[in-house]
Amino acid sequence: MKRELRTFDEFRQARLGDSGFVVITDTARPAIVHKLNGRCISADNFKVKVMLDKRGTGNYYWVDSIASAASEFGASACKICKPHHPEKDIWRA
Ligand SMILES: [Zn+2]
Repeated sequence: MKRELRTFDEFRQARLGDSGFVVITDTARPAIVHKLNGRCISADNFKVKVMLDKRGTGNYYWVDSIASAASEFGASACKICKPHHPEKDIWRA
């Protein structure tokens, strides 16, 4: 399952959820899948890429799983936020 994040509101709403991942596609690089709240996902980057560049350099998507990211986009896992490593569920403890 995937959903494109086309507006800042869609981006914000997606990050408020507690499941899924963010895929960032790039016309110059392979797609990368990130943790939903990974530190490499930022509102500023989203605004530049999606709003200023008008999605000309790539897009943001929400996906339900890393498997979806791989099958839909051929995305590889981000080496910074390591989405395949589960986060400690501090907020559910
Ligand atoms: Zn990342």
